[in-house]
Amino acid sequence: MDNNKQRELLGLGLQQLTELVASYDQPDYRAKQLYEALYRQRIAVLEDVSTLPKAWRSELGRAGFEVGLPQIEKRFVSSDGTVRYLIGFSDGQSVETVWMPEGDGGEAGDGSDAGDEETVRKFQRATICVSSQIGCAVNCRFCMTALLGVQRNLTAGEIVGQILAVLNDHDVKLESERINLVFMGQGEPFLNYENFMQAVNLLVHGVGIPESRMTVSTSGIVPRIEDFGSEPVRPKLAISLNGSNDEVRERVMPINRKWDIAKLLSVLRSFPLRNRERLTFEYVLLAEVNDSERNAAEVAELLRGLRAKVNLIALNPGPEIAFVMPAENRVLRFQKVLVDAGIPTFVRRPRGRDIYAACGQLKRTTELVSLGP
Ligand code: SAH
Ligand code: SF4
Repeated sequence: MDNNKQRELLGLGLQQLTELVASYDQPDYRAKQLYEALYRQRIAVLEDVSTLPKAWRSELGRAGFEVGLPQIEKRFVSSDGTVRYLIGFSDGQSVETVWMPEGDGGEAGDGSDAGDEETVRKFQRATICVSSQIGCAVNCRFCMTALLGVQRNLTAGEIVGQILAVLNDHDVKLESERINLVFMGQGEPFLNYENFMQAVNLLVHGVGIPESRMTVSTSGIVPRIEDFGSEPVRPKLAISLNGSNDEVRERVMPINRKWDIAKLLSVLRSFPLRNRERLTFEYVLLAEVNDSERNAAEVAELLRGLRAKVNLIALNPGPEIAFVMPAENRVLRFQKVLVDAGIPTFVRRPRGRDIYAACGQLKRTTELVSLGP
């Protein structure tokens, strides 16, 4: 926990809730009831936890305890159904979370469960893109989040809270609806490792989203990738590569000076993949910078022998970003080189570009027409 002044319950695990319950001389099973109410039932106010005695609810309330569910401050709705949320926390700071209905941002060939129309209508499938920090310190040259700098880490409760707020907003029933999580919003999750992993545990055991439906993306924080490999419960791993050699990668991702491609690939080669699991490499294509067929051949060479797939993302443009989006045929040529080398490679369709919700565009842009709340 960050400090003992924290009275927000969201973020506490079963162990911590058990300690809290004990400090009020309540029986142990109350901790489980609280845990269920916070994470499985996703209640917003303590008063509504009907499994707890009313008197104790009031006592907790008087002591300043609250659920701590973050507030949806704004919604921006894209023509493609994507919703970008501005989510506000108790200290007045806010972050972005993105809801993408049906599919996970457009991996070709991933539409395996398209049923008849009736099923499709009833069966909701969506991906939530989650932030792990307010802003980001990593400073990738093509990313709008970098322009914010890092304001602070999110707590585990704030990471989980984003997801709960969005699930509640769509009235999602996790028993019948399929939700994927991608930790690809604002921030570098592996520079907020403890809180991020605590959030993962609460999401898996509390909220009930399987780890197999979660992916975390890192810019390549090598020591944390190593730690991550030995976690008993963990999402799938994606790595932002974005350069095919050190010279190019360093130019677009200054962090490459600290952990270069050799160091990165070395830790990835010994990364303990589970059955049928693959690493994902993300590669943002920047016209005339990293998008030639020669670059593609270098990427194929780097990934040789790894169980991996590649997601290509044509640059999502934004103000103050000095790069240019490559033409479609260059993207396809790049893809072909990798596919011919035997590496499954997908071109990701941008989601919510019109509302600045796409990859690398999260910067709390508010100078758009707001459609809510
Ligand atoms: N910080 C983590 C996760 C968030 S970024 C990371 O960098 O991996 C999620 C993805 O968006 C990364 O793969 C990143 O390379 C990509 N991205 C960043 N800016 C982009 C932009 N302007 N256009 C397209 N993709 C971008
Ligand atoms: Fe941070 Fe990821 Fe953006 Fe790089 S791409 S600045 S690591 S959010």
